[in-house]
Amino acid sequence: MRPRSAEIVASASGPEGFPRAGLPEVALLGRSNAGKSSLLNRMVGRQRLAFASSKPGTTRLLHFYRVERPGRVLLLVDLPGYGWARVSREERDRWRTLIEGYLGKRPALRACVLLQDLRREVGDDELDLVAWLAERGIPVVVALTKADKLAAAPRRRRAELLAATFGLPWARVVATSAKTGEGMTDLWKAIDAVLEA
Ligand code: GDP
Repeated sequence: MRPRSAEIVASASGPEGFPRAGLPEVALLGRSNAGKSSLLNRMVGRQRLAFASSKPGTTRLLHFYRVERPGRVLLLVDLPGYGWARVSREERDRWRTLIEGYLGKRPALRACVLLQDLRREVGDDELDLVAWLAERGIPVVVALTKADKLAAAPRRRRAELLAATFGLPWARVVATSAKTGEGMTDLWKAIDAVLEA
C-alpha cells in the first residue's frame, strides 16, 4: 500500500550527518543506473522525492527519507550508487568507507533492498555485498528493476535465475517497474515481512 507521507530528513556525507537513530531503517543499494531514484520515488508515490544519483567526482551523499505507512514509520536510506566504470581507486575506496561506515555501524538498520537490473548479469560487487550483509545478519530483499523491458515469460525465467544466483528465497526477490508501478505492493510486502520477522 502506498505510504501516507514521505519527506527527506537528512542528507549526509558521513556519520556526523546521520539523523539520530530511532526509527527502523531500510537501506537501498544498487549499481548506478540500476534505477534506484526512480524506484524510490515510485515506492513512496512521489514524482521527485529522491534525487538522481550524483555523478563521479561529486560528493556522495546518503539521503534519509521518513516514510509513514499504515501501522509503521520507517526511514528509507538511499545509499550512493556504485560501479561507475571509470572511477579511480581512491573514489572506490571512499565509497566503500562511506557505505561500510553506515551498513556496518548502524543499529537501526533492519534490512537492505538491493537493486538489480533484471536484464543484467549479477556482478561480483552484488555477490560480495550480499555475502557481507549475510555475515552481519542483515536481511536482503532484491528488487529486480525495469521489469517492463521484458515480456512475462522471459521475465519469470530471469527472475528465477537471479534468485538462484543470489541464493535467496522467492519471497525475497521481487520484479519491479518504476515505469508501470508493477511490483510495488509486493516489494513493500517483502520489506514488511523482513521487518516483522
Ligand atoms: P539510479 O542511477 O540507480 O538512480 O537510476 P535512475 O533512477 O536514474 O534510472 C536510470 C535510467 O533507467 C533512467 O534513464 C531511467 O529512466 C531508467 N529507468 C529506471 N527505472 C526504470 C523502469 O522501471 N523501467 C524503464 N523502462 N526504465 C527505467
